[in-house]
Amino acid sequence: AKKEGDLPCYLFSQEMSEQLSYLHEIEESLHLAVREKQFQVHYQPQYSLNTLELVGAEALVRWPRKNRMVPPGEFIPLAEKFGLINQIGEFVFDTAVKQINQWSHCNVALPRVAINTSSTQLLTGNFGAFVEQTLSTNQLAADRIDIEVTESVMMKNIEHNGAGENDTSCLSILQEKGLEISIDDFGTGYSSLSYIKHLNVDRIKIDKSFIDDIEFKPEARSIVKAIINMGHSLGLKVLAEGIETPNQLDILKSLNCDEGQGFLFSKPLDAEKFEMKCLS
Ligand code: C2E
Ligand code: CA
Ligand code: CA
Ligand code: CA
Repeated sequence: AKKEGDLPCYLFSQEMSEQLSYLHEIEESLHLAVREKQFQVHYQPQYSLNTLELVGAEALVRWPRKNRMVPPGEFIPLAEKFGLINQIGEFVFDTAVKQINQWSHCNVALPRVAINTSSTQLLTGNFGAFVEQTLSTNQLAADRIDIEVTESVMMKNIEHNGAGENDTSCLSILQEKGLEISIDDFGTGYSSLSYIKHLNVDRIKIDKSFIDDIEFKPEARSIVKAIINMGHSLGLKVLAEGIETPNQLDILKSLNCDEGQGFLFSKPLDAEKFEMKCLS
């Protein structure tokens, strides 16, 4: 039988050059998308599990391209690679700040918007200054914005900047200004439990993978219970992401989880649909 290594090499080079030209095409159009601000921001509602009141919305970037929406999982890593992530991050932040202000006249109040950040954004550039400028231009109170930082970025930040008193990072500056900070995808990183007491965060978002298993895997339920209790003993809010079934919701309520989001409540919606469905 032929092994992989036996394939004629022109096959590889053809495949590789196709991949390369695809990457070049994407790079070009991503640059153009940034210049022309082709991105959209969608919003997914977040609720108090106790009262079912709206507590916030997560802003999620979308890229309409050639009759489809490119999911952020596809283009965010490329934007990082091509050095475009800071500009995209600024676009999302600016859009969300203007949007939450526009929604101030709605029947239902939207207390805050949660914004995702990448490591490049927090470790390089002037995101802190941009945030301060944008909030002041739009006269928005800092506590209306929740900055979502993944566990691994949090760890990188500690490696670079130390924790507690010694931390002069962008993140701690944002916190001093009064923005909320949430740890995103909690439970998927490493060694965070020992670090978390040093981090001055407001909220833990339990990763969807645990919520997926919470109904049928006792281990997952134990982990979620432990995260919630630990969070509470440190004075943090705990939010569960990716809630899809009423049963998952019931279990999370019984474990005293504070907040949640997921397809059970709503998928992410464009601004117009979000306003109709969640704010009127
Ligand atoms: P994430 O921050 O963990 O966002 C949650 C993702 O789960 C979103 O996917 C959301 O649509 C999806 N989701 C929410 N509830 C459910 C559910 O009940 N079931 C299922 N199956 N999925 C659910 P999305 O919008 O495709 O975003 C993927 C990732 O892209 C995000 O994961 C985040 O890491 C990144 N991302 C999105 N927007 C931005 C942005 O503006 N900046 C940065 N740096 N990253 C972003
Ligand atoms: Ca997130
Ligand atoms: Ca998440
Ligand atoms: Ca996730």
